[in-house]
Amino acid sequence: MNDRDLPRIVPLIDLRLSALPMPVTDHLPESRISGTGQLTDTLGRPLRDLRISVTDRCNFRCNYCMPKAIFDKDYAYLPHQALLSFEEITRVAKVFVAHGVQKIRLTGGEPLLRKNVELLVEQLAALRTPQGQALDITLTTNGSLLARKARELKAAGLQRVTVSLDGLDDTVFRSMNDVDFPVADVLAGIEAAQAAGLGPIKINMVVKRGTNEHEILPMARHFRGSGIVLRFIEYMDVGATNGWRMNEVLPSSEVVKLIHAELPLVQLEPSNPGETAARWGYADACGQHDKALGEIGVISSVTQAFCGSCNRARLSTEGKLFLCLFASKGYDLRSLIRGDASDADLSSAIGHIWQGRSDRYSELRSALAPDTGFGGRRVEMSYIGG
Ligand code: SAM
Ligand code: SF4
Ligand code: SF4
Repeated sequence: MNDRDLPRIVPLIDLRLSALPMPVTDHLPESRISGTGQLTDTLGRPLRDLRISVTDRCNFRCNYCMPKAIFDKDYAYLPHQALLSFEEITRVAKVFVAHGVQKIRLTGGEPLLRKNVELLVEQLAALRTPQGQALDITLTTNGSLLARKARELKAAGLQRVTVSLDGLDDTVFRSMNDVDFPVADVLAGIEAAQAAGLGPIKINMVVKRGTNEHEILPMARHFRGSGIVLRFIEYMDVGATNGWRMNEVLPSSEVVKLIHAELPLVQLEPSNPGETAARWGYADACGQHDKALGEIGVISSVTQAFCGSCNRARLSTEGKLFLCLFASKGYDLRSLIRGDASDADLSSAIGHIWQGRSDRYSELRSALAPDTGFGGRRVEMSYIGG
């Protein structure tokens, strides 16, 4: 049997059911940790970014995320009562903000499928950091419902959106979303978001070698000079169902080389610490960054790990706290929220969990041979949020 004959889809083990023991469920540690905005983990990384998954459902079946063979009509999504309510999410988010979170990203699944998600945006937009600052609130979407929702999201207090788009060619796009969804409707959603003032808009393109690398240049030409930042993401080995192989990863360095050959680029400084994307600006005739032409970003999660500055926590749809995108288990905060824990208990629990964090999956993976898996089965990206 050669490499091509190997089965591509790995059966799903339901990791949603298991959880890490809470340091606090049975007995609260004597040392209490309250929100000072100064929390750091074992590697000195602060807590700044919270990603909240608001649904595990999606209307697309991107094969790198929710392959149809697994996420079929019999797939058991979480029942409604398992999901955190908007009030529960806001309560937890407030505690995270007291610990230093400055940015909240809503994700999923497809977050715009969660009914009345704008009401959650409104509640989160009312939170303030210990210094009295408003939060940076954003959302990642496949764009399918954006044309309908952009204005109400903006009115609710959403500042920006990131739209996932893997190509401009309709046939390629329909085949990658695997539900025959037309690219024109996503482009209309992006236009609506621009018109509503949900910017600066970012576009995420997952690049899979052999599938859509020929879409890199058309995408770069299309968004250059539009005020939209196009970001190329290396295809990652998230979850356990997408049959990931290293030979399908196109390193970001090749993406930059390809674009630079036609549209010259200059490297830019990171805009903030913990930034996942390396920034490249389009150059003018003198080789300087031409701001009117804008910039691209490359997210090299596989070939250049950025765990050293990872300041992100993830809250799953049913209220588990994950410390890494590649974790196999999360901490069950919902049991605290729905139990009799006070906000101070919740704060102390989150403080102890973050202080114990040592995750750095991508850095450790880079030290391994290609295609080597380790660390046990991982949760799916559609459940934990991207
Ligand atoms: N449904 C929304 C969307 O597609 O934008 C939000 C959730 S999705 C899980 C968040 C991001 O993760 C998307 O930009 C998607 O392209 C990215 N993603 C999903 N699976 C990935 C993989 N295997 N490698 C790299 N990025 C992936
Ligand atoms: Fe859905 Fe987003 Fe995953 Fe695609 S990447 S299947 S749109 S959750
Ligand atoms: Fe952060 Fe984990 Fe990704 Fe490293 S592998 S950057 S720790 S989420």
